[in-house]
Amino acid sequence: MAEIRYGSCTHQGMLRMQNEDHAHAGDGLFVVADGMGGHLAGEVASEMAVDTLRLRLPADRPNGIRDLVDAVAEANLAIYQDSIEDPNRSGMGTTITAVAVIADPHDGEALGIANVGDSRTYLVRHQRLRQLTIDHSYVQELVAEGAITRDEARDHPRRNIVTRALGIEPVIPVDAWSMPLIRGDRIVLCSDGLVDEVHDDDILSILLTHADDPQAAAEALVDAANEAGGRDNTTVVVLDVLVGDDPPDPTEELDVVPPWGTDDDGDAGDVTPDDTSDVDTNDVDTND
Ligand code: MG
Repeated sequence: MAEIRYGSCTHQGMLRMQNEDHAHAGDGLFVVADGMGGHLAGEVASEMAVDTLRLRLPADRPNGIRDLVDAVAEANLAIYQDSIEDPNRSGMGTTITAVAVIADPHDGEALGIANVGDSRTYLVRHQRLRQLTIDHSYVQELVAEGAITRDEARDHPRRNIVTRALGIEPVIPVDAWSMPLIRGDRIVLCSDGLVDEVHDDDILSILLTHADDPQAAAEALVDAANEAGGRDNTTVVVLDVLVGDDPPDPTEELDVVPPWGTDDDGDAGDVTPDDTSDVDTNDVDTND
C-alpha cells in the first residue's frame, strides 16, 4: 500500500446543533461527505456514503478507478432508496469527495479521485494550493459564466445550493479521474464549512505552517473555520504522499492532471458511467 501520512478533523461548528458531515481516513481511502435533509437524515446520508465506500473499496485487494465510481454509484442508489422507503428521510442527500489508492493501469499505484457536490479536494504542490474538484453548485455555474467572481461566490446568499448530490436521483454522473502518486504532494479534502469561512490564501498558509503534521493541519483548519464564524459543520482530511514519483518541474504549468483532461495520456479522465451521462440534475437545497 502506498505510503501516506494523514490526519482528519470534524466539528459541528458554532451554530449548528448537530454534525451532518462524515469523514474517513486510512487504509488507502479518504472521504468527506456533507449530508443534507432534516430530522438527522443528512447525518444518515453522509454516513451511508462513507460506509458504502469503505465496504466496497477494501484495502486488501487492488481497486481501480471504475471500482471507485461504482462504489459512489452504489452509495447514491442506497441513499435514494432509503429516502423513498422512509418518510423521515425523504429528500436526504449528501455530497461526496473521495481519494483512493488505486492500481495504476500501467504499473504500481495511483490516486483515484471522485466527486459529487460542493465538498472539495485540493492539491498542495510546490507551496501552491489548487482546487482539483469542480463544485456542483449554483454559484460555481455563475462563476463559470463570468457573472460573479470566486470571491463573490464565497459570500453569495445562494452559495449553499448544490446542483448535484448523492441520493436525489437513482443514477448520478460522477466526476472521477486519476493522478500519479507524487512524493511531497499534500491532498486536502473538505466540506464547504471550511471554504465558506476561510479564504484559500489562509488555507494554504495554515497548511504550510503544519507542513509535516497532517493531523495538526486538519485541526488548525477546522479551528480557523470556527474562529471565522463556524456557520456550518466543518470537516477536513489531509493526506501527505511520502513515496512516489519525483515532483515535476515547478516551472511547468501543466504539472497537475486536469480533471477534464483529454485522456490521451492513458489516465482515466472524466469517468462517467455511460448509462448515466444523460441524466439531468435537479437543484438541491442544502442544509441552510
Ligand atoms: Mg456543509
